[in-house]
Amino acid sequence: AEADTQRELTDGFHLVIDALKLNDINTIYGVPGIPITDLGRLAQAEGMRVISFRHEQHAGNAAAIAGFLTKKPGICLTVSAPGFLNGLTALANATTNCFPMILISGSSEREIVDLQQGDYEEMDQLAIAKPLCKAAFRVLHAADIGIAVARAIRAAVSGRPGGVYLDLPAKLFSQVMDAQAGANSLVKVIDPAPAQIPAPAAVKRALEVLKSAKRPLIILGKGAAYAQADDAVRALVEQSGIPYVPMSMAKGLLPDTHPQSAGAARSLVLKDADVVLLVGARLNWLLSHGKGKTWGAPGSKKFIQIDIEPKEMDSNVEIVAPLVGDIGSCITALLDGMDGKWPTPPAEWTDTIKARKEANLAKMAPKLMSNASPMNFHGALGALRTVIKERPDAILVNEGANTLDLARGIIDMYQPRKRLDVGTWGIMGIGMGFAVAAAVETGKPVLAVEGDSAFGFSGMEVETICRYNLPVCIVVFNNNGIYRGTDVNSSGGADVAPTVFVKDSRYDKMMEAFGGVGVHVTTPDELSRAVNEAMDSGRPTLINAVIDPEAGSESGNIGSLNPQSSIRKK
Ligand code: ADP
Ligand code: MG
Repeated sequence: AEADTQRELTDGFHLVIDALKLNDINTIYGVPGIPITDLGRLAQAEGMRVISFRHEQHAGNAAAIAGFLTKKPGICLTVSAPGFLNGLTALANATTNCFPMILISGSSEREIVDLQQGDYEEMDQLAIAKPLCKAAFRVLHAADIGIAVARAIRAAVSGRPGGVYLDLPAKLFSQVMDAQAGANSLVKVIDPAPAQIPAPAAVKRALEVLKSAKRPLIILGKGAAYAQADDAVRALVEQSGIPYVPMSMAKGLLPDTHPQSAGAARSLVLKDADVVLLVGARLNWLLSHGKGKTWGAPGSKKFIQIDIEPKEMDSNVEIVAPLVGDIGSCITALLDGMDGKWPTPPAEWTDTIKARKEANLAKMAPKLMSNASPMNFHGALGALRTVIKERPDAILVNEGANTLDLARGIIDMYQPRKRLDVGTWGIMGIGMGFAVAAAVETGKPVLAVEGDSAFGFSGMEVETICRYNLPVCIVVFNNNGIYRGTDVNSSGGADVAPTVFVKDSRYDKMMEAFGGVGVHVTTPDELSRAVNEAMDSGRPTLINAVIDPEAGSESGNIGSLNPQSSIRKK
């Protein structure tokens, strides 16, 4: 009877957790501290998976890639001011890459922040986050948490996916309210990412342009991978017979060994195609903005573009057939219009591609067999290529300069969403965050192929990997530095050049410090043995792979973006 009359209470902490769980969000990536320490604890007590990192940027990158892999917003939880700023880098990167995530940060008291009276970790976080994400919300009353979380989810995953910021001031968490009223305030978001059906006229236009092509090409981007319309994508490619090129994170949407893949003839097809169908790929710097030398004679191309974001059309060049809608719906509409009878592209075109592809692959093959020690990139990547071929369900995380550019070309992918890399910004530092989330979200083995410099940005998270005993195998391509390990200080001073690291470092010892497996290898044979062992055992492993410090080129494939002085003083 006592219990009947006593009102049951809930509070801000519990409402945040209940709101997430109600929407099937069951994992939080974060770094604990004031004022969200208890939120993490309580979330774990309530059955959520709470993965604590050593730095917020990596927790944020984990949340972002969880969003890419699952189509649900990944959650990153940080403390105020500096923790928030660290997480914000990942939120901005997620937004740029069209990955859905929600950064939830604790913040200081509004009254004090707004009067700039110098609170603990004072910062107007909402204002700072706003320009760097899709939407930003602050919650002042516990009764509004349900609506705020619902808005955040919808904003993150609907239309073009991206990052959302949720600002939760410290006082909110301990605000108490009636439990039943609290439960009633929660919202389960119905149809958070509604299908967006393309207009029939736009479909017809696209098909007419496509049919007029003599040298058609499909480019698959990571939007196509995100959409999880894998069967439709495959049907479009195979029923049209059109050669395709996958962008980096779209590799494996169809196996890279697919006869229609023109990946190994990329420069030829970009230059010579007359009609290009973009599927969830932007004509940004990664595609030379759709113009210039890469794309052949000016005016020689017609672009058809499938994208959920109407403003993406004509961003760089004219799109003659914009097809605005979600990829699944757009491709289904195209397939309906093709009606099972589509003319095969001219053999002259497909034969030319085939010949170029075979020539390029034949040129590459012997390099991949190199058994040189210290290893060069090709020898080492040749070994890893075989590993992924034999373990196609493993997830490959990849960052670096040469390590990235060469791995992208050399390591074939066989299944969708198995290659996670530096994305739209081409940044370093995503490695360990992506690796952790890939393991947590999929339960599959993860192989992280890292340049030694790239690894350094998130290297401390090896402790996180060991702590959660994740099946992650990290291979550090150790060539003693950035681009190469041979640069010298031309002033003759005592400091080493700004691009080189401690020579002959043993990154494998870092892993051993936390109870993981460390291996030091100097040949491709040793490398493949060590990786296979790691993947069989599922134990956290770091392999220090010694790469010739002379190997590699400045800035990898994008040296043209790295200005160099022509009036260097002697
Ligand atoms: P890549 O780097 O692989 O070329 P981008 O990130 O440049 O890929 O492009 C991805 C594109 O996919 C973005 O323009 C985004 O708006 C679009 N996109 C993401 N999800 C969907 C979806 N479900 N349907 C349609 N377009 C999508
Ligand atoms: Mg290096």
